[in-house]
Amino acid sequence: MSAPTPAQDKALALPDRGLRSLTQALAQREISAVDLAGAFLQRLEAAQPTLNSCITLDRERSLQEAAAADALLGGSEDAKAAARAAATTAAGPGGQGALPGGLIGALAGIPVLHKDIFCAEGWRTTCGSRMLENFVAPYDAGVISRFKAAGTVSLGRANMDEFAMGSTNEHSFFGAVRNPWDLQRVPGGSSGGSAAAVAAGLAPAATGTDTGGSIRQPAAWCGVSGIKPTYGRVSRFGMIAFASSLDQGGAFARSADDLALLLDVMAGHDTRDSTSVLRQDGAFSASLGQDVRGLRVGVPKEWFGTGLGAGVGAAVQTALDQLQALGCELVAVTLPASAQAIPAYYVIAPAEASSNLSRFDGVRFGHRAAEYHDLNELYERSRGEGFGAEVKRRILIGSYVLSHGYYDAYYLQAQKVRRLIADDFARAFAGCDLIAGPVTPGSAFALGSNSSDPTAMYLADIYTIPVNLAGLPAMSVPAGFDQGLPVGLQLVAPWWQEGRLLQVAHAYQRATDWHQRRPPAFSGAAA
Ligand code: GLN
Repeated sequence: MSAPTPAQDKALALPDRGLRSLTQALAQREISAVDLAGAFLQRLEAAQPTLNSCITLDRERSLQEAAAADALLGGSEDAKAAARAAATTAAGPGGQGALPGGLIGALAGIPVLHKDIFCAEGWRTTCGSRMLENFVAPYDAGVISRFKAAGTVSLGRANMDEFAMGSTNEHSFFGAVRNPWDLQRVPGGSSGGSAAAVAAGLAPAATGTDTGGSIRQPAAWCGVSGIKPTYGRVSRFGMIAFASSLDQGGAFARSADDLALLLDVMAGHDTRDSTSVLRQDGAFSASLGQDVRGLRVGVPKEWFGTGLGAGVGAAVQTALDQLQALGCELVAVTLPASAQAIPAYYVIAPAEASSNLSRFDGVRFGHRAAEYHDLNELYERSRGEGFGAEVKRRILIGSYVLSHGYYDAYYLQAQKVRRLIADDFARAFAGCDLIAGPVTPGSAFALGSNSSDPTAMYLADIYTIPVNLAGLPAMSVPAGFDQGLPVGLQLVAPWWQEGRLLQVAHAYQRATDWHQRRPPAFSGAAA
């Protein structure tokens, strides 16, 4: 690893300014995309032995992308044509959801770290699994095409729990990720590498996915901002499937302002994802400045009962008071079916996972056992070797609840509970504009503390999972500390109201500075 050049040093001094001003500095050619990417790569490489936030770093490939961004910034016609082609690809064949002209090149030169779940042409895409240890994606996910069209530079591939199953990142085949606030603690999961990298200043932005909390929970535990959009807002094409009716791509960044710019690019229709929705709204960054006075913020009483840790509860209460001081009106709401959310999720998600993961058979994708005598043994050995313990546990549960004789008792019942949960939110939103509360009951677990007790790990998702079951958009924003560890405030809005979420989060971040705090070991120029 080489020492930073003076140009990279200059670029290193910029990241804390946020994406808007980085974009400006790039457009005015104060810095080049190559220097900016080089500066962040330097940080990622240096922190890799400590944090393990990445599965793959490919300096050459990233710098090639950065050179292409520099060409785009310099007005090259070839580069513009390539960006326009990526914009169209993002919509799928015959699609109407191409990235709007105004967004082509809008984030040119901005480095983004991608969760290793989004297929990206030419990049190794492992999904945190031995099963895909050597899989190089032959095409781009819808999300990746959109980021390409916007001119962003891929910094590498973020570590994650295997197939996005987990809340700690300890289920990655490529090793655990550490929390930059305390190296003896987990960053959360499953998008732990993305959250840890943004928190430590190794990347200005990162992608993630959220099936039951995997963006919001690591965002909360690492002290960064994260958004999980409405189900159907962001294309799932090329995003390796865990539980298809719940999975949704989203992003991590330091502020709501940055997230709005990222979501402007990520959101859009894709004909290759049958649950992607064609909508005319967007331009989330435009909703940011609006006044929040008079907005009614619902506070669910079930989210503040026993089980909520005192430190987290106190920080969230202070955040609610702050929203009130900004002119929001706090109203009590109730989500009675929330208590059944975890059992319903741990039937539905494994059921879908068991079906989705059947494609990894040692024949078509990924790992194949070296020795086998017949086809069954090829399947058994390849899957036995390729999948880790948590993934196997979920496949077993999923196959069981879908099996003849149990389907009605478990799967159908869970779907009914899912409906009750969605109805709860609909009733609550009749009396409020958004909902606010904790993201998790406590702050980051100690490494290894839940490895032998999956149920304890599952229970930490109590406030995030109901939101996925209802398909709603939600955010986590930094809201203080619990004994030195970050705490997140969760905001949930009705379907398609990401703009409102971002508006409130932005107003909150203008009044507070929690989102600007840095882990001591990674703050300052040395980070
Ligand atoms: N922690 C949850 C699980 O293990 C959620 C994971 C996710 O959102 N991908 O399933």
